[in-house]
Amino acid sequence: MYKLESFMAELEKHNPAQPEFIQATREVLESIIDMVNENPVYEKNRILERITEPDRTFMFRVEWEDDLGNIQVNRGYRVQFNNALGPYKGGLRFHASVTLGGLKFLGFEQTLKNSLTTLPMGGAKGGSDFNPRGKSDSEIQRFCRSFMTELQKYIGPNTDVPAGDIGVGAREIGFLYGQYKRIRDENTGVLTGKGLSFGGSLIRPEATGYGAMYFAHQMLLANNDTFAGKTISVSGFGNVAWGAVMKATELGAKVVTISGPDGYIYDEEGVGTPEKWAYMSYLRASNNDEVEPYAKKFGAKFVSGRKPWEVPVDMAFPCAIQNELSLEDAKALVANGVKYVVETSNMGCSADAATYLINEKIPFGPGKAVNAGGVAVSGLEMSQNAMHLSWNAEEVDVKLHAIMVNIHTSCVREGTQEDGYINYPKGANIAGFKKVADAMVQMGY
Ligand code: GLU
Repeated sequence: MYKLESFMAELEKHNPAQPEFIQATREVLESIIDMVNENPVYEKNRILERITEPDRTFMFRVEWEDDLGNIQVNRGYRVQFNNALGPYKGGLRFHASVTLGGLKFLGFEQTLKNSLTTLPMGGAKGGSDFNPRGKSDSEIQRFCRSFMTELQKYIGPNTDVPAGDIGVGAREIGFLYGQYKRIRDENTGVLTGKGLSFGGSLIRPEATGYGAMYFAHQMLLANNDTFAGKTISVSGFGNVAWGAVMKATELGAKVVTISGPDGYIYDEEGVGTPEKWAYMSYLRASNNDEVEPYAKKFGAKFVSGRKPWEVPVDMAFPCAIQNELSLEDAKALVANGVKYVVETSNMGCSADAATYLINEKIPFGPGKAVNAGGVAVSGLEMSQNAMHLSWNAEEVDVKLHAIMVNIHTSCVREGTQEDGYINYPKGANIAGFKKVADAMVQMGY
């Protein structure tokens, strides 16, 4: 019999100073441990010990020259977490907060998330503590080139296929892919999120945000509810938030907030026009990491240094970064009458915030289910690359929608409590885990 507390104590001892990794693994193990103990084959095969240990981790020095001619040094990483289900798959994050422990949490989550998509993908994550804020496009290009010069040793279209994440969008993927091609002289699907003219997939940029709304729509349907007339708060202003506000608007809701590290925007009229969406993309491309200019341009309110969770809304969508929604924020949302919390960032809610929402019986979608549309369309990009063809937008969108509906069904199947409340995190963890664990059992050690 596995015992949660002694297992976690060992894991913590073995992975010191990695609080996010411990938070992510604890959250999963708490919800699967009973099921694991009911199936002794998992303990016999030491699945918990094996699934919480990355297959391998690469750490490397990245040196690049800034615009003033100074040599700068950053650290690069690739954590190949688990390839039981297929090639390692997961994004690259360029952000000042990146650490090995942070990427291990993301790689672990990615393994279960990718399993939920039902596509054949293992889990990985990588990136660097390089901070794109304030960098010129040439500096970003030089950094990407140097980063890929090392990373290309460890990846390949059938072994490990990186993609974007925070700080890595179409521009960075273009630079990274260019360098891979320069060194290896191959035209392959080694990265996803590529430009359309060199193997990218339609709907990939929109996929995470669209997928989140497709998942949220299923949550609404499970409560005989609709998007019509709902007010929504979104955090962040990057790729995920952009896709989310566009689809939410299309489905009849009004998004009243977006945010950045500098504070949040309250837009009473809604972030609901193509001009506003284009401006979000412009802000992302400016490398400034600020949303305040949106308020000036569109006459909206800017609230400095605060998070959007104090605004009364029907639905809240954290779309920025881990632990961006605290217990205090969750309490404020519930006090203001929130009906759904749909975590779109990876582990966007702190552990106590998530527990509070579940105890309050608020339908709460966890990031690994809600944001799986991004990596799902990456999987579809890999399929298109392997077949040397491209699907039209509608074909991709229909597949994305079906995948999100299916993930919701898996959560309902594994997470519905006796009182009828759907414990989405539990459902996602059990469904994601079972597939990886069963594959590991079948393949032996
Ligand atoms: N970074 C995204 C995620 O967290 C996408 C990964 C991918 O497309 O490989 O799932």
